[in-house]
Amino acid sequence: MATARFERVKTHNIPMALFCYFILMWVPITISAGLMALWNTLGSAEINIFECVIFMLIMRQINVFTLSTLFHRSYSHRQFQYHPIVEHPMRVWNWVWAGTGGRAWAVLHRWHHAAADTDDDPHSPTKTGGTIWNITAQTFKAYQECLHNPEKYSKFEYKLPNDAFERFIHWLQGQGLLGLVGIRLPLIFAIMTPFIGWQAAVCALPGIMASVWFSTVIIVNGLCHLVGYQVMDSGDTSTNLFPIDFFGWGEALHHNHHHKQGRANYAITKFEWDPGFWTLWCFSKVGLVRNLKP
Ligand SMILES: [Zn+2]
Ligand SMILES: [Zn+2]
Repeated sequence: MATARFERVKTHNIPMALFCYFILMWVPITISAGLMALWNTLGSAEINIFECVIFMLIMRQINVFTLSTLFHRSYSHRQFQYHPIVEHPMRVWNWVWAGTGGRAWAVLHRWHHAAADTDDDPHSPTKTGGTIWNITAQTFKAYQECLHNPEKYSKFEYKLPNDAFERFIHWLQGQGLLGLVGIRLPLIFAIMTPFIGWQAAVCALPGIMASVWFSTVIIVNGLCHLVGYQVMDSGDTSTNLFPIDFFGWGEALHHNHHHKQGRANYAITKFEWDPGFWTLWCFSKVGLVRNLKP
């Protein structure tokens, strides 16, 4: 039986958490802005870099919000349900940008909660051999494991969507690069090009993708089990990075979430505030969110 390893948690290290968070968030967007400047200089493009940085930030925030609220809070933990007119466009959006359906995403995430910080944890910087540097490889490998061994992880599949769209995504994931190159990338460029033009879209793509990946995988799966602070004994190494997390829609309050997985509001102490929850609360007032569990 694997045992959790708590000794590597560095609690109350908020300055380090903040530093890591903002480096991870801004590096991809800065690199994309640099590519735009290069294209302007060497290729005589006329990209408005300031407008494109704002655009990248908005796209990043939309992506982190749809992953956090639909796949994490609603599907994985059933903290609320979206109205179908919001839910289904969000599912398509998440697949276009992140390449995954909600079913596989939630199975992997439920597995993480069930085995947090043990050697069976699908991704943890504190398990044997785990580091912040290999958290991406851990997550990718575990996702493939869920995809290719559905019967092994069927205990995590309760009340998850299993309709034609999920089956289509699952089928497409077995077709090599067809889904990415043939469908998803053309759709992504169709979304971005009307706003910033095709040259800026080419430069913005890696910045947006990497920033979302860093936010969901490196920050939540990695940093949130490595640096930050704990407010109670949650029985694992999960941490809160800092008390108010606008750029992650509250997901950086990961320790609180581990402790109270059924709550949609990740803030626990009076110093904390969860912007994702309060956005959902506003949605609930106009009927777009139901059964919100505060
Ligand atoms: Zn969770
Ligand atoms: Zn966790």
